[in-house]
Amino acid sequence: MISLSIIKYETMNIINKFKNLGRAAKIRYATIILGIILFLPPLSLLPQFFGESRFCGTWCMRMYMNNPSSYMMFATFMGMTLAALVFAVTFFFGRLWCGRLCPIGGTSEIASKLVPDKIKIDYSKIPAPAVRYGYFLVFLVAPAVGIGTLCCKLCNFSTVPQLFTAPFNAGSMAFFFTTTGMLSASLFILLGVWSKGGRGYCNFMCPVGAVASLVNGLGAKLGFRRYMIENAKCTGCGACSSACPVWAISQDKDVVKISQFSCISCGKCKDVCPKGAVK
Ligand code: SF4
Ligand code: SF4
Ligand code: SF4
Repeated sequence: MISLSIIKYETMNIINKFKNLGRAAKIRYATIILGIILFLPPLSLLPQFFGESRFCGTWCMRMYMNNPSSYMMFATFMGMTLAALVFAVTFFFGRLWCGRLCPIGGTSEIASKLVPDKIKIDYSKIPAPAVRYGYFLVFLVAPAVGIGTLCCKLCNFSTVPQLFTAPFNAGSMAFFFTTTGMLSASLFILLGVWSKGGRGYCNFMCPVGAVASLVNGLGAKLGFRRYMIENAKCTGCGACSSACPVWAISQDKDVVKISQFSCISCGKCKDVCPKGAVK
């Protein structure tokens, strides 16, 4: 009886959370859902068309480089084209793909809304750039030292599409009963669904995110438009840094600033700032 009332209370909390979102946030969630509808089916179904149970070995250029074969060329070309497009947009306009469209980060962020805030894991004390670029280095050199598939096994671009296809595809379902599959699913839960902000995987482990963050930082240095804080208007209340899903905002005495090497251009800081200090 008690647990039922807790479930009811938490469900109402979740519904209210979505209801109380501002217009910009509602539009952002709508574009993320659009990204899931547009991009997840090809990520999930195309590999099966090419005789693979998952994304690896078809769209993923890393696997293609290890084992090139012409029948996979089309899918890999599509993957490379999409990646080039993502990085070009990121350079000029910020990480619109990551913050507003990507079905992988988007799924984990939306799913994280279903978990009550008070039991979420807060990773904000971990220095994300050090972990991100350290892991990315491992991701790059792993094939040369013979552990190439280790990072692939933990990749959410493989895990999330399979979560969606598992109810309809025996291969995907079987994957989640293997040690690797259980590890991947646990990672998705711990760094995504159960994490504050739902973007732990994006911030620590995503190879696309690691490159995008560098491209974003470079674009910012060359003067392209990014989210910035006007310190003349800012009171240092900290609302923006609490809302940031990738803990990109830091405060040093009176100066609050956004790290362009972590920001995913989601705009949450702008939505919550009571002083209109984020532009
Ligand atoms: S960091 Fe990776 S998983 Fe996260 S939104 Fe960007 S591309 Fe998607
Ligand atoms: S700094 Fe602002 S725009 Fe960038 S990720 Fe954090 S909340 Fe989103
Ligand atoms: S929410 Fe606005 S006023 Fe508060 S610290 Fe952030 S930028 Fe400054």
